[in-house]
Amino acid sequence: MKIIMLGAPGAGKGTQAKKIAAKFSIPHISTGDIFRANIKNGTELGKKAKTYMDQGLLVPDELVVDLVVDRVNQEDCRDGYVLDGFPRTIPQAEALDKALAELGQKVDYAIDVDVPDENIIRRMGGRRACVTCGATYHLEYAPTEKDGICDTCGGGLILRDDDKPETVKKRLSVYHEQTQPLIDYYTNAGILKTVDGTADIEDVFRAIVEILGA
Ligand code: ADP
Ligand code: ADP
Ligand code: ZN
Repeated sequence: MKIIMLGAPGAGKGTQAKKIAAKFSIPHISTGDIFRANIKNGTELGKKAKTYMDQGLLVPDELVVDLVVDRVNQEDCRDGYVLDGFPRTIPQAEALDKALAELGQKVDYAIDVDVPDENIIRRMGGRRACVTCGATYHLEYAPTEKDGICDTCGGGLILRDDDKPETVKKRLSVYHEQTQPLIDYYTNAGILKTVDGTADIEDVFRAIVEILGA
């Protein structure tokens, strides 16, 4: 079961990807999380990625593709995986298809979590991330039990730098220009499935589980 999550920043890709990964016992691979871990650890990749991320721009394809191809070739990905935040450009999608084709594999589902731009700004302003484990919450829609403290690990919560309104606007325009074309790409491949991402988290998940036929 090889699944790709598509959707605007803040559409709920990560939220749903984590639930899919838990239900089907497959790895959740988030390129955003990988970059943030590299930034935290001060790696060369992290330093390069940060300059783009802070501006709301995509990290160049050549810094992303090999990393993901290596990751999906690891042993734990044998029975499938859910990719969250990759591919984000047509060249990334083509590179993934090519790498999989070489192994006689292909993507099974591209799930588009559809949320209009108006809703996105509100979503992002309320998103809070755990500094320690990366868990994601929302002040209004997915609150923690105790204010400002991660339910899972007790870590502190922050508003991501790139979730500030100016950067969110830039990220949305980058999404429309560079990532939205993937909807046609996967429609043409016959594997696009769209879910209404404005529904409650559990309802969106039910719709996805139905698509996956489980
Ligand atoms: P969101 O969950 O809000 O969509 P992510 O955590 O997926 O955001 O990504 C944060 C940032 O990391 C992006 O704005 C971009 O700069 C960078 N990034 C993540 N994945 C990719 C990718 N596949 N290609 C290029 N840049 C990426
Ligand atoms: P993405 O990975 O697409 O950027 P996230 O999964 O991080 O999006 O979700 C963005 C924010 O919106 C988070 O604060 C999350 O808790 C919240 N959220 C996710 N799905 C929903 C939903 N269906 N309804 C309301 N809020 C949601
Ligand atoms: Zn935590």
